[in-house]
Amino acid sequence: MTGRFAPSPSGTMHLGNAFSALLAWLSVRSQGGTMLLRMEDLDPQRCRAEYIAQLREDLSWLGFDWDLEQPLQSTRTAAYLAQFRKLDTYPCYCSRDALHAASAPHASDGTVIYPGTCRNLTPSERASRKKAPSWRLRVPDRTIEIVDGLQGVYSENLAKDCGDFILRRADGVFAYQLAVVTDDAAGGVTEVTRGLDLLSSSPRQRYLQELLGFAQVRYYHVPLLTDETGRRLSKRDGDLDLSALRLRMTAPEIIGRLAFAAGVLDHFEPATPESLVPIFDWKTVRKDSIVIGSEWKV
Ligand code: GLU
Repeated sequence: MTGRFAPSPSGTMHLGNAFSALLAWLSVRSQGGTMLLRMEDLDPQRCRAEYIAQLREDLSWLGFDWDLEQPLQSTRTAAYLAQFRKLDTYPCYCSRDALHAASAPHASDGTVIYPGTCRNLTPSERASRKKAPSWRLRVPDRTIEIVDGLQGVYSENLAKDCGDFILRRADGVFAYQLAVVTDDAAGGVTEVTRGLDLLSSSPRQRYLQELLGFAQVRYYHVPLLTDETGRRLSKRDGDLDLSALRLRMTAPEIIGRLAFAAGVLDHFEPATPESLVPIFDWKTVRKDSIVIGSEWKV
């Protein structure tokens, strides 16, 4: 089997990334699998070379290794275009503001369920538009069911819960959904472990895998880390950024605390990723959000 880390180098690593990385790495290593690293630097406005270097360094410092690094997504445009051309897409001229009008229904991940405005434009209507379009995949009225290894059954109706979704932005950048599916297939990935915020992307990705003739992957969506008020930790929580944590904790302290929070350890003790491989079992891993308390902030 093959798994991967797929961080976005749009910032430095924070505790939530380290938590997902730990479970992804333990799952792969406990099965004797191959681990890939892939920098998801699709968005040229947000991603920076120094973050790529820092992410690699932080992962190594925490005690993770990988067998191969996949090419940067920013170098993969031709590969995404080749897949994009096989799909039934149409140009969409809707502005973001028009789509986010107050009445628009939203999907579970906060994106607008596309009402199909540009789905059936005639060739002459298209020709009369002046702006560069984004490109959407035409989706059927079909329910896709995912059996997540940790969260259980998750299903979504593509037409009703999601709508025709963007595969290529108006600026030419390919969307995460297409890139991730293309790169997982290119790397022979069989297992995807990542944060619960991406569970709602998995039906779209499963559908793309099917359309493109790629193998299905097995998903594990792991809990998000939150503060005491239930708000998801993010890049705003600078004191829980790896660079800040590294000033006050050793790598085994961080790994031991994350393993305890995850349910991999039943008490806190300093640990290396390697030392946890023999005891790792998805059955002990928690499914629900995990509150990061004061023990991390000292
Ligand atoms: N690059 C995404 C992130 O950092 C993860 C994508 C994935 O694992 O499918 O949130």
